[in-house]
Amino acid sequence: MRTGPRGGGRPSVTDGVRERIERVVGPGNARDDAGVLLTYARDATPLQRGDPELIVFPGTTEEVAAVLRIADEARVPVIPRGAGTNLSGGTVARSGGIVLVLTRMNRLLEVDADDLVAECHPGVRTIELADGAAAKGLLFPPDPGSYTTSTLGGNVAECSGGLRALKYGVMRDYVLGVEAVLPTGEVIRSGGRLVKDVAGYDLRRLLCGSEGTLAVITELTLRLVPAPASSGTGMAYFADLADAARAVSRVLSSGVLPVTLEFLDEVCIDAVEGYAQIGLDRGAGALLIFGQDGDEAAVARDLERIAHACQGEGASEVRIAQTADEARELLAARRAVLPSLSRLERLTILEDATVPRSRIAAMVEHIQAVARRHDLKIGTFGHAGDGNLHPTAVLDPDDTDAVRRAELAFAEIFAKAIELHGSITGEHGVGIVKLPFLEQQLGADHVALLRRIKAAFDPHGILNPGKLGS
Ligand SMILES: Cc1cc2nc3c(=O)[nH]c(=O)nc-3n(C[C@H](O)[C@H](O)[C@H](O)COP(=O)(O)OP(=O)(O)OC[C@H]3O[C@@H](n4cnc5c(N)ncnc54)[C@H](O)[C@@H]3O)c2cc1C
Repeated sequence: MRTGPRGGGRPSVTDGVRERIERVVGPGNARDDAGVLLTYARDATPLQRGDPELIVFPGTTEEVAAVLRIADEARVPVIPRGAGTNLSGGTVARSGGIVLVLTRMNRLLEVDADDLVAECHPGVRTIELADGAAAKGLLFPPDPGSYTTSTLGGNVAECSGGLRALKYGVMRDYVLGVEAVLPTGEVIRSGGRLVKDVAGYDLRRLLCGSEGTLAVITELTLRLVPAPASSGTGMAYFADLADAARAVSRVLSSGVLPVTLEFLDEVCIDAVEGYAQIGLDRGAGALLIFGQDGDEAAVARDLERIAHACQGEGASEVRIAQTADEARELLAARRAVLPSLSRLERLTILEDATVPRSRIAAMVEHIQAVARRHDLKIGTFGHAGDGNLHPTAVLDPDDTDAVRRAELAFAEIFAKAIELHGSITGEHGVGIVKLPFLEQQLGADHVALLRRIKAAFDPHGILNPGKLGS
């Protein structure tokens, strides 16, 4: 008989359970050797580690259903997992059990230019769908920074956003249909290829952002849009973030909806330049990177209007990329922020507090004050157009006092986001990291309702326990 998870409490994966699961997926697809268990003990979230007992790689919906039926019967926790790039501890097996990895279910089944839809398995990587759509002159807009690695199942379960969310929306805006397996093994379908369909509660929306706590997604029907004919990019420096934040409001009230409107504070500008050496102005207090797509004349007109709005708010320099290479370089500066900050110290804690756009300056000032008070280095960058900020602390993981101060600092940052009518998470999910703050944002009645919904889907609480709905 195998021993249970370190934390104890729940029944463990017994030899009998493992053997039954092996018969379903084949012995090579149910692994409990030490190296594999270690690999799946963590995801991309720093400081979080679980204790999985068995890692299972199903190949079909039927296999997922059979594994869930066995686990439900034996009351063994099951943690669905895509690429493991989430930043909230969403796939960390705190109560032991089975990590169910969906990456073998990785077929892009169809890209249909007539219906403007794609059908795919949950383990297809985001970039594979983007490329498949582009090959047919179509665009799949959601583009999280992890899109070369993350899976579409994970994107839907987290309701991920990306650099294009301001204009095109987030993952939930592209989910037309979902096939999913309930924790008790039944297979359901919600929605399909239709733009209009109001038969029943909108379960596909409920599954968006459900973080693997309600059902395992086994197939997706996703909306595509025609690819824009051209795109353009520009940048503007400001003396401080308050000016940049005012420029964001001015741009958005000028009748332009940019595809991208990103910002970097001075800590991030300095880190990117130190790493990438692309000629950024290290003396600037803030940098806005903006972009537009559409037909060529409209792109040129909108970029001029955005540049004009930035100048109106005192931008010290505004530049519009003249070539595709220059545009790529500007966007690369934004994509380089996280790796640039990460090289400053061994531990990088990236969060995603979100506020109404009009409160960005107030929020960033608060973050800077919190960093000073706790003697921490926190750079802030993010999706200025969505008010989605990524305050990112860099520190030495062996400095336990600094780690403790960072935890206090982020608790204060989340509290401020809530006070400013914002959210503790705009796109990274609640997971285990932000569960302690959820009730502060939603209130006790709301959280109680989430628990009742969870119980309706998952009567024995086997799916991703200790997360949403717990
Ligand atoms: C460098 C970097 C940049 C990032 N940039 C962004 C960004 O710009 N925007 C953004 O929103 N996020 C971003 N993220 C976070 C992360 O990449 C996203 O949350 C992504 O959608 C996770 O996909 P995944 O396949 O890695 O899912 P995982 O991490 O494996 O899982 C995420 C959650 O989904 C559940 N899940 C996974 N697959 C299924 C399934 N088939 N059925 C049911 N539940 C499932 C899991 O249980 C877990 O709760 C970034 C992360 C990194 C490391």
